[in-house]
Amino acid sequence: MRIVEYNAVSAISRSSMAELDYALNAYSGCFHGCIYCYAMDFTRIQDAAQHWGQVVYVKKNLLHLLRSEIKTMKRGIVGVSTITDPYQPAEAVYHLSGSAIEILLRAGFRVTVQTKSPLVLRDRDILQDHRNLCDVGITITTMNQKKALLLEPQSPSPLARGRALSSLSSSGIRTWIFLGPIINGINDSPSDMEQIFQLAADTGSRVIYDTFSNYKGATRLMAERIGSSDMAGQSRYDIKWKEKVISDVQRLSDRYSVKCNNQDQEWLEERRMDYRTLY
Ligand code: SF4
Repeated sequence: MRIVEYNAVSAISRSSMAELDYALNAYSGCFHGCIYCYAMDFTRIQDAAQHWGQVVYVKKNLLHLLRSEIKTMKRGIVGVSTITDPYQPAEAVYHLSGSAIEILLRAGFRVTVQTKSPLVLRDRDILQDHRNLCDVGITITTMNQKKALLLEPQSPSPLARGRALSSLSSSGIRTWIFLGPIINGINDSPSDMEQIFQLAADTGSRVIYDTFSNYKGATRLMAERIGSSDMAGQSRYDIKWKEKVISDVQRLSDRYSVKCNNQDQEWLEERRMDYRTLY
């Protein structure tokens, strides 16, 4: 594994995701190395994109840039992060995501964090102090450790993620689980998803789910590593399969009384609505 420090030209960018105003990524590339990761296709530094999970570029001037950029920026919702995990192993050394979150929250931005790592607990105090301005999502694709190792070979275990979620939630921080991507024939059975809904119910978390999209990098990596049945991107185009997933998810959501939305519309409306009530 290799780390490269560099000076970025900006810290924060306009987000192309409808539910966010801005995106902040302290790192390019991600040591978690998930084989389904769409970020491979959106990472501009080719060394990091092509050696996914092996090389991470660190924006060493991030905090300096951020302090200066936010002086004139309209307040809004910042996603931390969108094309890397903000609490991947490099964060243990650099603490850039955590410091950036603190700067943003103190300046009145709304911050939405998404990670697979219990390292987020290091910043629990600042998140707790600003809980009206932030939420934390933990990605859990499966509670089955064997499957997790296949899909997310360098990520913290699902159990460790579950414990982090419980801890954040019991600190009064709004939490959610990102159940995704759901992949055809891999983690799409109701029995696979049931434990995730149980965890959501136990921690008072919402569930946001999404199905696999066959981006080039992810499709290649999945074919190489697991010869996946989804390597032709069936999840995306198989309408019947998708309908079944939606109905299974809905049933679980009803059974466990967990609020659940797909990635697109309802979550967008919910987060925006929530944000509007703050100001
Ligand atoms: S943790 Fe997220 S950004 Fe990192 S490799 Fe996995 S899916 Fe991609």
